[in-house]
Amino acid sequence: MKPAFTVHLLLGSNLGDRAALLAVARQQLVAAIGPAVATSALYETAAWGREDQPAYLNQALALATTLAPLALLAQCQAVEQAAGRERLERWGSRTLDVDILLYGEAQIDLPTLIVPHPRLAERRFALLPLAEIAAEIQVLGHRCTVAQLLTNCSDLLPVRRWSA
Ligand code: ADP
Ligand code: MG
Repeated sequence: MKPAFTVHLLLGSNLGDRAALLAVARQQLVAAIGPAVATSALYETAAWGREDQPAYLNQALALATTLAPLALLAQCQAVEQAAGRERLERWGSRTLDVDILLYGEAQIDLPTLIVPHPRLAERRFALLPLAEIAAEIQVLGHRCTVAQLLTNCSDLLPVRRWSA
């Protein structure tokens, strides 16, 4: 049997019915990748660096998977496509973004996949939901835990727990 790894994903949406898009995405990710181990609450954040775009809902999700990293990335991108995502501009609005924050304890540096996610430490909207489900996990390359990264994060954009 292949070993299972715990992967931590960040889901984001700032177009359409954001909460519904995230709910469908969660189901599709579980079906394609593996069972959910933990799911954070939903958090709302203004679009990072873009005042002209609608606010995001974000959620962290931990899944157990036997998929290799690039196969995992392909499944994440397939779920983005299923949500009708269009890549019109870098950091443009999107119906669904699925980023791989952590892949077990692996450090990955490929042209199309960098893990831990290279911008994790500077994004409160990723660290806050991740800390809810993975506070004590060590983040490779930073020599500290998710909780410590959050404490030290200088990103001032407010991140609020969201409910419908
Ligand atoms: P962003 O998430 O930075 O707003 P995109 O979702 O458009 O941008 O992703 C751009 C590219 O980033 C993807 O095509 C993918 O190959 C690459 N990438 C590198 N590392 C990761 C990661 N950890 N998770 C998701 N995508 C990644
Ligand atoms: Mg992305």
